[in-house]
Amino acid sequence: FDMTSSDYYFNSYAHFSIHEEMLKDEVRTKSYMRAIKDNPHLFEGKVVMDVGCGTGVLSIFAAQAGAKKVYAVECSKIVDQARMIIESNHFSDVIQVVESKVEDMKLDEKVDIIISEWMGYFLFYESMLDTVLFARDNWLKPGGLMFPDKATLYLCAIEDSQYKAEKIDFWDNVYGVNMSCIKNVALTEPLVDTVDPEQVMTNVSAVFPIDTTTITKDELSFAVPFRLTGIRNDYAHALVAYFDVQFSHCLRPVSFVTGPHVKPTHWKQTVLYLDRALPVEQGESIEGILACRPNNKNPRDLDIAVEYNFQGRHTRAKNLLRYRLR
Ligand code: SAH
Repeated sequence: FDMTSSDYYFNSYAHFSIHEEMLKDEVRTKSYMRAIKDNPHLFEGKVVMDVGCGTGVLSIFAAQAGAKKVYAVECSKIVDQARMIIESNHFSDVIQVVESKVEDMKLDEKVDIIISEWMGYFLFYESMLDTVLFARDNWLKPGGLMFPDKATLYLCAIEDSQYKAEKIDFWDNVYGVNMSCIKNVALTEPLVDTVDPEQVMTNVSAVFPIDTTTITKDELSFAVPFRLTGIRNDYAHALVAYFDVQFSHCLRPVSFVTGPHVKPTHWKQTVLYLDRALPVEQGESIEGILACRPNNKNPRDLDIAVEYNFQGRHTRAKNLLRYRLR
């Protein structure tokens, strides 16, 4: 039996454990809960689509906020549990479960609001935003609302000598054996982990803000400039990316951020190791371009590139580094 990468992707959502992890992420789930349930003036009497309903939790929030009808769309096998959860919580009259890929579904009407939790590591990993944009373009009424509607990718640099030594330089000398070819591979793999805020040694740059009401699939392949300025004298070993999302239609705007300075989420942060440690003095800047696009062969993977240029007092360095998030 030959599974495609798409089968692997949807299979991973069939088991409850991944939903357990998401539901227990209180920063994530409570933000959605507040954005939806604290704004019944937006949901009362409205038709809502939940893109990738999983356990159905967001659909239930929308029903609790007064939605007239909720289409809970889900293509993985967790949909069987979603049906039971919706039934046993007495929402079957409002919430209609649609077992389908969003791209294949047929509905009799368009919707007023799209809710979805589509974000992946590095914001765009797993490219589920494509599916949300498809739903928007095909099923959202003109002037309809996206929940969330805004997201921003952030970048900063960190001091990380200890972990870099453990994870990267380790391969230079393994019990006296040179395994540095593995080091080269390890350098291309972004590390998903939580970063200590003390490690952040530059300012944070908002490199790629998006509005899901208007952005197109093509614009999700991007190259954007960054400038990271040292906030103290320290070495930069890696760049760190993280994101926030916003529900700006709410009466009191709701947002959450997945960065190192706040309570960690299951997205943690994404660490991109540099090929060398850059000695940065306070006020000196690492400039560059961050590029990202879905991989050609497996569009759920991300090809990430960092072109940096550092002209510091102690070192001048530039390079083009390529990473693959898989
Ligand atoms: N809304 C739930 C689950 C979010 S995870 C919650 O917030 O807890 C994203 C879900 O979207 C997964 O269950 C996945 O199977 C589903 N999904 C991803 N792409 C989809 C597509 N193209 N069509 C239907 N469901 C999709």
